[in-house]
Amino acid sequence: MNRRDLMMLSAATLASRMAFAQQQAQISPAGASDAAEQPSAELPLKLQDWRPTSIYKVPVTQVEKAKYPVIDMHNHGGDTPEKVRDMLSSMDATGVEKAIVFINTGKPEAFAQARTLYSGHPDRFELWCHFDLTGVNEPGFGPGAVKALEECHRLGAKGIGELHDKGKGLDVSVGTEPASWHEPAAHGVGAHPDDPRIDPLWAKCAELGMPVSIHVTDPIWTYLPMDSHNDGYMTAFHWRLDDKPGLLGHDALIESLERTANKHPKTIFIACHFLNLSYDLTRLGQILDRTPNLYADIAARMAEVSTIHRFTNQFMQKHQDRLVFGTDFFYSPGELRSSFRTLETADDHFYYEDYIDYFWPMYGLDLPDTVLKKVYRDNALQILQRARASAG
Ligand SMILES: [Zn+2]
Repeated sequence: MNRRDLMMLSAATLASRMAFAQQQAQISPAGASDAAEQPSAELPLKLQDWRPTSIYKVPVTQVEKAKYPVIDMHNHGGDTPEKVRDMLSSMDATGVEKAIVFINTGKPEAFAQARTLYSGHPDRFELWCHFDLTGVNEPGFGPGAVKALEECHRLGAKGIGELHDKGKGLDVSVGTEPASWHEPAAHGVGAHPDDPRIDPLWAKCAELGMPVSIHVTDPIWTYLPMDSHNDGYMTAFHWRLDDKPGLLGHDALIESLERTANKHPKTIFIACHFLNLSYDLTRLGQILDRTPNLYADIAARMAEVSTIHRFTNQFMQKHQDRLVFGTDFFYSPGELRSSFRTLETADDHFYYEDYIDYFWPMYGLDLPDTVLKKVYRDNALQILQRARASAG
């Protein structure tokens, strides 16, 4: 079914719903107080099955391609030739010039294997690797991890990412390695970014000109009680952290990253997902202001910032030199187009194509062209150039 068919279907569905609503209105005029006419307290539909169609007759902007060329600074790629081919065709269809693909390994052999998938398209993909933090809790850790990083760099890794610390420390794989670099490994207890054991690796990133993409903490509602007051309950419940004891908390993780960036001013850090501060962009702005080697990507948080679109527009204008575009998802043209529509247009009350995870409608941020150009591409190029210029 193509997009046009889908729209026709939506229009037909809408028309039949309107007719039904009018019929009902005739049967039970507004203000009818008959108890039998009252809606049942029990909704028959589960929220997770809710796929709303906007009823509003408001301007709809069709965005087929991004307005300017895009570099996706946050992508996890595909682990088969078919998936890489699909990615390329989605990129072509929507105007994505290049994607940074995070190869989920710090082991040089595994990195070498993964890079063969992408080697035919050096202009379209750039590969970043992980740290190999195996043995971080054992004496003698350090030189081996630095050597592995140098080796991955020699094999073509141009940056580091996506590192994670959701409270247990940076990812350390334990037990058997997963079958594919694309699969998540079982994670043990690692070291937080500001742990001195990691210092030699941050320093080596600066020396090799490798920027670092790092995800710390998670959205604030994953820490809040899972009750009727939780503003993100429908999504938070799946990612909940409130029931996991012993994790370093939300604020402490943000502070750990800021301390690390201050301690390593020559290393460039890109905090993933607005540093998980999409609920408090003022605080993110303050952190960016005092940390010149820190940037933030906007990946996978479109719905969170779209619901506060006027405030986000102001924030993005103010910090337009420090934000980069990213997706975090495997491409479907529909998802990409929905992201571009959110950033570029002033459309009201629409829903993401191919995806619903947040149970509220989207509103366009209506960003000016100068900001779009920077966020889509120029800031990414600036980060890559800046990292490489300071290498040596
Ligand atoms: Zn990611």
